[in-house]
This record gives sequence, C-alpha cells and structure tokens, in this order.
Amino acid sequence: MGVLNTAAAKLTPQLHSPYDLYETIVDTATGLLMAEKGSLMLPEEDILLIKAVKGINKWLIQDIKIKTGEGIAGKVFKNGEPLLVKDIEKAELPYIKLKRHYKTGSFASVPLKFASETIGVINISDKITGDEFTEQDLNLLNYFASYASIALNVSYCYVLAEQMKELSITDPLTGLFNRRYLQERFTEELHRSERYNFAFSLAMFDIDNFKILNDTEGHLAGDSVLKEISSIAREHLRINDVLCRYGGEEFAILMPQTKKEESFMVAERIRNNIRGSLAHRYKKLPHPYITVSMGIASFPDDGKGINELIKNTDTALYKAKSMGKDRTITYSREIT
Ligand code: GH3
Ligand code: MG
Ligand code: MG
Repeated sequence: MGVLNTAAAKLTPQLHSPYDLYETIVDTATGLLMAEKGSLMLPEEDILLIKAVKGINKWLIQDIKIKTGEGIAGKVFKNGEPLLVKDIEKAELPYIKLKRHYKTGSFASVPLKFASETIGVINISDKITGDEFTEQDLNLLNYFASYASIALNVSYCYVLAEQMKELSITDPLTGLFNRRYLQERFTEELHRSERYNFAFSLAMFDIDNFKILNDTEGHLAGDSVLKEISSIAREHLRINDVLCRYGGEEFAILMPQTKKEESFMVAERIRNNIRGSLAHRYKKLPHPYITVSMGIASFPDDGKGINELIKNTDTALYKAKSMGKDRTITYSREIT
C-alpha cells in the first residue's frame, strides 16, 4: 500500500491543471506496474480520446478515436470492468486485432470510475521485464484508478470554479471586465494609493450618438461597434490599466499610479484611435466618424472616496458631451 500512497500523492500537485494531471496519471500508472507503455482515454460523447501516453509516439496516436464499446478500451469503458490479458495469443477475445507494435502479448486495462459512472480508461502494456501482468498488478492498477478518478473530478471542479469566477467578472459581449470587477479593483487601488501616497485616475467614456447608429444600422452593427471599440481600447492601454464595460455603451478605465496629466494622454490616445479606426464605415450614419467622449478624475485631487471619484468623472464626461462631444475633459471645480 505504501507504493500506492506514493503514487496517489503524485497526483495532488497537478489538480489545478487537467493536462498535467493526465500525463501524471499515465506516468504513475506505468511506473506502478513497471511497464513501458500506457495511455489514458477519456470519453467525449460516444468516442474515447487518448489524452496522454507513455512509451507510445504521441503524434502517431493523437487522432485515434475509439468508439465506446469497441476494441479493448472501448469494451472496458462500456462494461466498467477491468481486463487483464496474460497472453493475447491464448485469450479468446474476438474483438481484438493483434497489434504488432507491442512487445509482449500481455496488458491490463481498467476503467476510471466516479460514483457509478465510468469516466475513462487506463491501459498499460509491455512489462519492462517482458513478463505477463498478474492479478496483483491488476488490483494495484485498479486501486490507483480510484485515486485517479477522484483526482480527475477534483480537477474538473477546479477548472469549472475558475470558469465561473471568470464569468462573474466579465461582460459576455465584449469580454471586458464588468462593473462588479471594477468596484473590487477600485477599492483595492484606493487602499493602496492611500497607504503609499500614490495618485491614480479614473476615466470613463461613452460612445457618441450611439442610439443613431443602432437606429440606422441596426442593433447587430451596434454590438459589433461595441466589440471593436473594446478591442481598440484594450490594445492602446498600458499593461496595468483596467478596462471595464461599465454599462450599455459606457466604459471605464482604472489607471493605477497615474496622475491626471498622464491619464489625459492615455485617454486621448484611445479616443483618437477609436475615431480613426471606425471612420467612414457606416454609410447610413449622418456623421462619418464614430467618436467617444471621455471624462477623467484623479485621486486624491478630485476625490478621496470611490463614490466621489465616480461622480466627478461622470461630471467631466457630461461636460465633454455638453461641449460638443468627441473630446476628453478632466475634472476640476471650474467645470461644474
Ligand atoms: P450620447 O452621444 O449623448 O451619448 O447619445 P447616445 O445616443 O449615445 O446615448 P443614449 O443614451 O441616448 O443611447 C444609448 C444607446 O445605447 C441606447 C441603447 O439601446 C444602446 N445600447 C446599450 N447597450 C447596448 C448593447 O449592448 N448593444 C447595442 N447594440 N446597443 C446598446
Ligand atoms: Mg452615448
Ligand atoms: Mg450612455
């Protein structure tokens, strides 16, 4: 049992990454049975895909798809029962075609089971010594398979949890962070800036006359402009800036450790790129350019708290709209 515990312990560090886990399962199972070759197969709909191999050329088998219920692994998967073949020449297995790339005629295949469901198959062949696999080998592999099944399930839950987390902070249309995420990052940034005496800035921009675009070119064109503007903005930001879709056709950029003058330059770069990239695209529009208006407020000069900073950024944005749109205005008392 000591060897089994050691084998199971090898799986734990790989739980966060399914592909590393697949490799480790095959490596460990092959080592456990002192074999040369091994593979892990997992189902996708009604076929089994080879997810990891040991001692077999990866490129040769990468496209092999086995129907569940067919061949050795397919049968083991379907029946959920382990299979030990001591000598294939003597075994009465009509569904097996002899494959000559195996050195010995002995192999073991076990199902991976979770609750009552079979979730995959481990195949092991060619004992290093050239001997046959024994009942004891099969038992060992079967025990290991139960650890591997749990590890696989934990790993899927891990990935799922990561995906859920990602979904909860991103906007599905643009792929940008959403308002909820901005709120979190804003709070963090405020605390950090207070502690270290840093400045930071918040910019918000809103697409000009977007309703006209929707009305003349349709909602789908509107959606595609939202996406395009998101990628242009993302492209022209600096690495630490946080871009979010704040609402409908309104975006926010949190710029850590950035004073007002610098944030104005960043904002203008984005605004001009949006203006240039989408010009003359939509013929039904009464204006040739798709433009945005921006407002900026900075910590600590324009506000010491989140609400005050958002309010003042909004005031600056409103000012940009009232002055004729297509511009960036930074907050100051004089604009109110
Ligand atoms: P202004 O220049 O003053 O900002 O005018 P505007 O027309 O851009 O602003 P308004 O608030 O009148 O209209 C915003 C429009 O944005 C209305 C709404 O239907 C549209 N919108 C909001 N979210 C989406 C979206 O996800 N897809 C599309 N296609 N349109 C959206
Ligand atoms: Mg608008
Ligand atoms: Mg708006």
